[in-house]
Amino acid sequence: MSGKKKKKPAAKNRDKIDRRRKQRAARQLANERERLARLEPGGAPERPLTVVSAAVVEEHARRLGCAQCTGPLTVDDHAVAKHDGELLRKVSTRCRMCRSERVVWLRITPRLPN
Ligand SMILES: [Zn+2]
Repeated sequence: MSGKKKKKPAAKNRDKIDRRRKQRAARQLANERERLARLEPGGAPERPLTVVSAAVVEEHARRLGCAQCTGPLTVDDHAVAKHDGELLRKVSTRCRMCRSERVVWLRITPRLPN
Protein backbone atom coordinates (compact mmCIF):
# COMPACT_ATOMS: atom_id res chain seq x y z
CA MET A 1 0.00 0.00 0.00
CA SER A 2 1.27 3.39 -0.82
CA GLY A 3 1.39 5.76 2.09
CA LYS A 4 2.85 8.54 0.06
CA LYS A 5 0.66 11.47 -0.57
CA LYS A 6 0.66 12.51 -4.15
CA LYS A 7 0.22 16.13 -5.07
CA LYS A 8 -2.99 16.71 -6.85
CA PRO A 9 -2.42 17.45 -10.52
CA ALA A 10 -4.29 20.70 -10.17
CA ALA A 11 -1.92 21.95 -7.47
CA LYS A 12 1.07 20.87 -9.51
CA ASN A 13 -0.15 22.82 -12.50
CA ARG A 14 -0.79 25.81 -10.34
CA ASP A 15 2.84 25.73 -9.16
CA LYS A 16 4.03 25.52 -12.73
CA ILE A 17 1.84 28.39 -13.85
CA ASP A 18 2.99 30.43 -10.87
CA ARG A 19 6.64 29.79 -11.67
CA ARG A 20 6.15 30.72 -15.30
CA ARG A 21 4.34 33.87 -14.32
CA LYS A 22 7.22 34.89 -12.04
CA GLN A 23 9.79 34.17 -14.76
CA ARG A 24 7.82 36.23 -17.22
CA ALA A 25 7.54 39.12 -14.76
CA ALA A 26 11.30 39.02 -14.11
CA ARG A 27 11.97 39.04 -17.84
CA GLN A 28 9.64 41.96 -18.39
CA LEU A 29 11.31 43.89 -15.59
CA ALA A 30 14.75 43.24 -17.10
CA ASN A 31 13.52 44.42 -20.51
CA GLU A 32 12.02 47.52 -18.96
CA ARG A 33 15.27 48.37 -17.16
CA GLU A 34 17.18 47.92 -20.40
CA ARG A 35 14.74 50.17 -22.24
CA LEU A 36 15.18 52.88 -19.60
CA ALA A 37 18.97 52.55 -19.72
CA ARG A 38 18.86 53.16 -23.47
CA LEU A 39 16.98 56.41 -22.81
CA GLU A 40 19.63 57.66 -20.39
CA PRO A 41 22.60 59.71 -21.61
CA GLY A 42 25.08 57.27 -23.13
CA GLY A 43 22.41 54.68 -23.82
CA ALA A 44 22.20 55.28 -27.57
CA PRO A 45 24.32 56.87 -30.32
CA GLU A 46 21.73 59.68 -30.50
CA ARG A 47 22.40 60.48 -26.84
CA PRO A 48 26.09 60.04 -26.17
CA LEU A 49 27.72 61.02 -22.90
CA THR A 50 30.18 63.85 -23.43
CA VAL A 51 33.69 63.48 -22.08
CA VAL A 52 36.74 65.70 -22.51
CA SER A 53 39.29 63.08 -23.56
CA ALA A 54 39.68 59.51 -24.75
CA ALA A 55 41.54 58.70 -21.55
CA VAL A 56 38.41 58.98 -19.44
CA VAL A 57 35.98 57.20 -21.79
CA GLU A 58 36.08 53.83 -20.05
CA GLU A 59 35.99 55.37 -16.61
CA HIS A 60 32.81 57.28 -17.49
CA ALA A 61 31.20 54.20 -19.03
CA ARG A 62 31.96 52.11 -15.95
CA ARG A 63 30.60 54.77 -13.66
CA LEU A 64 27.08 54.21 -15.04
CA GLY A 65 26.85 50.83 -13.36
CA CYS A 66 24.73 47.88 -14.39
CA ALA A 67 21.31 48.70 -15.81
CA GLN A 68 19.86 45.58 -14.20
CA CYS A 69 21.34 45.45 -10.71
CA THR A 70 23.53 48.62 -10.47
CA GLY A 71 26.52 46.29 -10.01
CA PRO A 72 30.06 47.21 -11.10
CA LEU A 73 30.88 47.06 -14.81
CA THR A 74 33.94 45.72 -16.60
CA VAL A 75 34.86 46.98 -20.05
CA ASP A 76 34.76 44.22 -22.68
CA ASP A 77 35.40 46.35 -25.71
CA HIS A 78 36.10 49.94 -26.64
CA ALA A 79 35.66 50.92 -30.27
CA VAL A 80 35.31 53.95 -32.48
CA ALA A 81 31.95 53.95 -34.22
CA LYS A 82 30.62 56.32 -36.83
CA HIS A 83 27.16 57.70 -36.27
CA ASP A 84 25.63 60.40 -38.45
CA GLY A 85 29.03 61.38 -39.84
CA GLU A 86 30.46 61.78 -36.37
CA LEU A 87 32.99 59.53 -34.68
CA LEU A 88 31.78 58.30 -31.34
CA ARG A 89 33.15 55.85 -28.82
CA LYS A 90 31.20 52.68 -28.24
CA VAL A 91 32.08 50.92 -25.03
CA SER A 92 30.73 47.44 -24.37
CA THR A 93 30.58 46.62 -20.71
CA ARG A 94 29.49 43.64 -18.68
CA CYS A 95 28.20 43.52 -15.13
CA ARG A 96 30.45 41.70 -12.69
CA MET A 97 27.43 40.68 -10.62
CA CYS A 98 24.70 39.56 -13.04
CA ARG A 99 26.76 39.36 -16.28
CA SER A 100 24.30 41.48 -18.25
CA GLU A 101 25.73 43.66 -20.98
CA ARG A 102 25.52 47.40 -21.28
CA VAL A 103 26.65 49.41 -24.29
CA VAL A 104 27.64 53.00 -23.59
CA TRP A 105 28.03 55.69 -26.25
CA LEU A 106 30.32 58.66 -25.74
CA ARG A 107 31.38 61.76 -27.61
CA ILE A 108 34.82 63.26 -27.05
CA THR A 109 34.67 67.04 -26.92
CA PRO A 110 38.02 68.44 -25.83
CA ARG A 111 37.74 71.44 -23.58
CA LEU A 112 38.87 74.43 -25.61
CA PRO A 113 41.31 76.86 -24.09
CA ASN A 114 39.75 80.30 -23.79
ZN1 LIG B 1 24.16 43.58 -13.03
